[in-house]
Amino acid sequence: AAADSVALLARIEALAEDNRRIHERECFNLNPATNVMNPRAEALLSSGIGSRPSLGYPGDKYEMGLEAIEEIEVIAAELAAEVFSARFAEIRVPSGALANLYAFMATCKPGDTIIAPPASVGGHVTHHAAGCAGLYGLRTVPAPVSPDDYSIDVAALADLARRERPRLITLGASLNLFPHPVRAVRAIADEVGAHLMFDAAHQCGIIAGRAWADPLAEGAHLMTMSTYKSLGGPAGGLIVTNDAGLAERLDHIAFPGMTANFDAAKSAALAVTLLDWKAHGRAYAARMIAVSKALAAALKARGVPVYETARGATDSHQFAVLAAGYGGGQSASKKLRRAGFLACGIGLPVAEVAGDLNGLRIGTPELVRWGVDLGDVDPLADLIAEALASNDPDAVAPRTAAMRGRFDRLHFVV
Ligand code: PLP
Repeated sequence: AAADSVALLARIEALAEDNRRIHERECFNLNPATNVMNPRAEALLSSGIGSRPSLGYPGDKYEMGLEAIEEIEVIAAELAAEVFSARFAEIRVPSGALANLYAFMATCKPGDTIIAPPASVGGHVTHHAAGCAGLYGLRTVPAPVSPDDYSIDVAALADLARRERPRLITLGASLNLFPHPVRAVRAIADEVGAHLMFDAAHQCGIIAGRAWADPLAEGAHLMTMSTYKSLGGPAGGLIVTNDAGLAERLDHIAFPGMTANFDAAKSAALAVTLLDWKAHGRAYAARMIAVSKALAAALKARGVPVYETARGATDSHQFAVLAAGYGGGQSASKKLRRAGFLACGIGLPVAEVAGDLNGLRIGTPELVRWGVDLGDVDPLADLIAEALASNDPDAVAPRTAAMRGRFDRLHFVV
């Protein structure tokens, strides 16, 4: 048994190194749902802080010797509020999915109805029956969609909301191409007595970088997010709000509700991530969007069927490709993986593909963090287009790895 343990330990360490090789040396990560952390944040994550208890409030912890941890917790929460221009930030949230559950608990009771974006415009499972909304006992009615801008049809939503009288309306999805109609949806929410939640799991980076309309300023009552996607921090969740009543409910949900002790190392890593955004956020967000728009145009010019709405392909750090011609989005992603590109499928409001998703999602948070800029877009698009068209994508992989090797330094980190 001891020998087995030694072998397993070596195996786990080798797998972690393999993972680093795949993501940091061989492949370009085109998946907007992931990123690479500031090495100083990464070091804090494994610094041992996280195995200490953290039960209770700063200044009034249950266990002793937690003064240092208390201060980290306060710094992280204050930075989160500052970066998102919010009065309150709840950092004791283990994931984006749980951020949504906390938001549902703060605004709804089991049995209530909510209206949420469906999967055809990137709506996330957490807002629906199979996710935490359903598990908490909410009934989700899908919002009517507007394919013209890959968002919600406001007029049809108003009618639906008057009929359904939801307690909560949600906006924000796993693919966001153009700003969502937050102000108009807030007016509908006010009319029917609902709260409005913006799920910024993906948009939080470009919101923090002031390159995307701020949902709280536009009227969302609360904004949930994941901290490891465009934000580039540790895996975790975050909720911000300007509403003191909701902040108080979220506080009780976080403690003593859903967490007792929580991961203080994650708070430290998040604080460093937020310092990155304070120092470099505007430049990082602007470049993510510029590279995304340029890559979409370059792929289209090479015959890749980029998904376009009446407003174009994208104004954000993400865009999509129609995947039917590749057998679906997951099928296209497996092909790209063999050529050294990491991506995944997504739902689009077009004909379904049997047994697969009908879209392929591409985003730029990690490309840009590694220093990819506008001058790199054409050679990158050459490789991606060749891989998608090829019957032998493995043949592309050595050239992808050779190009990938040029990007060995992280940008926009403090
Ligand atoms: N909300 C949206 C729109 C998402 O895309 C995701 C992605 O996973 C989540 C919530 C859940 O976030 P997490 O993975 O941090 O639980």
